Parts: sequence; C-alpha cells; structure tokens
Amino acid sequence: MDFRFSEQEEAFQKQVDDFLERELPADWTQSNLYWPGGYGAVPDFEIIDPAVEKFRRRLAEKGWLTISWPREYGGGGKSNIEQAIFRERMSYHRAPAADIGALISGPTILHFGSEGMKKEWLPRIARAEIRFWLAYSEPDAGSDLSAIRTRGIEDGDDLIINGQKIWGSGAHVSDYAWMIVRTDMSAKPHKDISLIIVDNKSRGITMQPLVNICGFHSFNQVFFEDVRVPKKNIVGEVNGGWYYVMLALDFERLVVAIGAFRRTFEELVKYSRETQRSGAPLSDDPVIRDKLADIAIKIDVAYMFFWQTAWMLDHGLVPNIEASVLKLFTTELSRDLAYTGMEIMGPYAQLERDSIHAPLGGRVSNGYLDCISALVGAGTSEIQRNIIAMRGLGLPWKF
Ligand SMILES: Cc1cc2nc3c(=O)[nH]c(=O)nc-3n(C[C@H](O)[C@H](O)[C@H](O)COP(=O)(O)OP(=O)(O)OC[C@H]3O[C@@H](n4cnc5c(N)ncnc54)[C@H](O)[C@@H]3O)c2cc1C
Repeated sequence: MDFRFSEQEEAFQKQVDDFLERELPADWTQSNLYWPGGYGAVPDFEIIDPAVEKFRRRLAEKGWLTISWPREYGGGGKSNIEQAIFRERMSYHRAPAADIGALISGPTILHFGSEGMKKEWLPRIARAEIRFWLAYSEPDAGSDLSAIRTRGIEDGDDLIINGQKIWGSGAHVSDYAWMIVRTDMSAKPHKDISLIIVDNKSRGITMQPLVNICGFHSFNQVFFEDVRVPKKNIVGEVNGGWYYVMLALDFERLVVAIGAFRRTFEELVKYSRETQRSGAPLSDDPVIRDKLADIAIKIDVAYMFFWQTAWMLDHGLVPNIEASVLKLFTTELSRDLAYTGMEIMGPYAQLERDSIHAPLGGRVSNGYLDCISALVGAGTSEIQRNIIAMRGLGLPWKF
C-alpha cells in the first residue's frame, strides 16, 4: 500500500497553499473562532462578509468548489482525492468553506436528480451563486427523522407545504431549503417522504432566530404556511426522499475540517513549549506530554479515515459506515482537543475572545462550548454508534 500522493496531487496541494496564502481575506478576523469539528460558531452564519463572498467566487472561478464533479455540470472533473486535498488545505488555513450546496445537495442531485435538475441546479452551485440550508429536523423529529410531520400535498404542478422545521443552520443567510416533507399520509414506513428544494423567498415562510451556546445566531426555527413549490423541484421520485436523504447525510458526515485539527494542535504544542509554569515550560510536564501524545495519535487516525473515504469515492464506493465512523471519531476528537486545551491553559482558558490575555485568541474557550454541537448535528454520537453496530456489525436494529 502506497500512502504517498502522486506528483500531480502534490503539485495541486502546493497550488492550493499558494492560492490561500495570497487570496484569503486579510481581514478574516473571525477566523480565530473556528473550532475543528464545531459548527456552532461558523462565522458566515452570523454575517455574509463581502470579502468572504468575493473569496468564494474566486474559488468557484477556479472550479475548486466542485472539483470532483463532472465538467458538464460545472465541476472540475478531478478526483475525490484532489477534492480531499483541497478541503484539507482549506481547513488548515481556516478558510471560509461552509457550502451545503457543493458538499451535500449537489452530490445527492448528481446521484438521484433528473437530467433537467442536474442542468438547472449544479452549475449554479458550482458558480457559488446560491446557498442552501438543511430543513430536516422538527421539534419532535431529530434522531428519528421518519417522524416528521411537515406535509407536502400535491396540487396540480405544485406541492403545498405546511409545517415547522427547527435548528436550520444558516437558513437566514441562504437562498434555498433542502427539505424533507411527508407526501404520503398512508404511513408506509420510509416510503412517504419526498426531498424537495424550496425557495426561501416563497410566500408563507417565516423565520425566528435561535442563538446558540457561543452567543451567535446560527440556527433558525422556520414555519411554512401554505407554501407553494413546483413539483419539478422534487429530487428523484416522489416518496423516494428517505433513501436520498440517507445518502445526503452520508455526504454531510464526510464534511470534516480535518486540517483545522492539525493546525489547532500545532498551536497547542507551540503554546506548551513557549509558556512557563513554575519556572519550566508546560511541555516539560509529563501529564501534558501524555495528553498531547494521545491527541497526536487520534489526529493521525482521523486523517487515515479521511483519506480512506475519498479513496472509496474514487473507486465508485459510497462511504456509509465509514461516513459514520469519520463523523463519530472526529467529533469526539473535537471534544477531546478542546478539553485538553482547557487543561493545558488552566485558568487562562476561561478568558474569552474579547480579552487580550486569552491564549490563542480565545479559540479554545470558544471551542470548549462549540465542540458540543458537533456531537449532536448530522446525527448524534449515539445514532452513529447505532449505525455502525447495525450496518457495520450486522447487529439487530434497536430503536
Ligand atoms: C450545531 C447543530 C446544527 C444543526 N443544524 C441542523 C440543520 O441545519 N438542519 C436540521 O435539520 N437540523 C440541524 N440540527 C439538528 C440535529 O440534526 C438534531 O439536533 C439531532 O439529529 C438530534 O435530534 P434532537 O435534537 O431532536 O434530539 P433527540 O433525537 O430527541 O435525541 C435526544 C437524545 O436521545 C438520544 N437518542 C435518540 N434516539 C436514540 C436511539 N435510537 N438510540 C440511542 N440514543 C438515542 C440522542 O443521541 C440524544 O442524546 C443541528 C444540530 C446542531 C447541534
């Protein structure tokens, strides 16, 4: 087994690094909030910064937002390994990269969308013209999405949607909902749900902000009252949405800011070397050395899972159990990294980003709060373990 990149892949990695060093907005001041694995404080949920939008367009011009998609739909026609290299470098530089269209909706449309749907939506995603939010969860349907109550009733060429979604991250700064609705009321398990794209500007949609643990408006509660949506916006078959959304969730679980783990860890190691406590650097303390060694091993393991899933996609395999393993492992690593950072920094770790004395710009104290979100979003750790037990080990499904 050869773990090295090819010459072409190495050249691409360098190209991405050079580009990011040159073009990442210098006033990207919020980047110190970015915590690997967390998404409770993704800054572009808070503000759509014009510099960030410009940066996204530049990435789109280069064809990098959708590197692995076929060229005919606006993609770069490259491999998933190259896509993974791009994402690793982007996250290492903490570049703004949240893009549900490019990472979740687009790949699902590529699998299940009609030709017309591919031509209509994929090039717009590739050009960074539109943003999506995920409209799955409801007040009584989170882990068990099959319990959703929001209805889509057919009326001529349209669906009429009524119901409520919750925890819609970034809904207030998006253009379209990537949404599941119940379209068959005869309660046939898993054959009664459709996946549909809904324009945020449609009449009958109202949003209420929900402020997260880090103090940001990232979530929304969204109400749909007689919202009319063309049936042509349904992805794949009517009532086939459950299976499509399961794949979309696999794609979501593959979205890991892997490089940010390494970057933050490097900063913690540097801090331990440079900070004196009781007349000696923190890095002399055997307990701190043990903790850092543990994290170093976990980061290497996470990288292995990350490259493995990209390799699988290049070989026509859809990572399913592997997506859950990657999600579970990296989100728990996100928590371990934050806890280790808090322990190393001691009382200073409690200083928040506004304090000039906060180590690493307050990123660790923010990450300590933010890392909780990662263990819940895109399916909780318990649900990932259930998937691994059931699909990976063949154990009976218990719900
Ligand atoms: C940061 C963040 C962003 C999010 N963004 C979005 C978004 O953009 N769009 C969206 O639709 N949703 C979003 N969510 C919602 C998220 O998907 C749900 O919170 C999650 O699926 C859990 O659902 P719940 O909150 O209803 O908890 P519940 O499903 O009620 O679970 C409560 C507890 O019970 C446990 N549990 C439930 N069922 C089982 C079981 N079968 N076996 C073992 N334990 C179980 C869970 O693990 C959890 O600990 C987001 C959540 C977070 C934290």
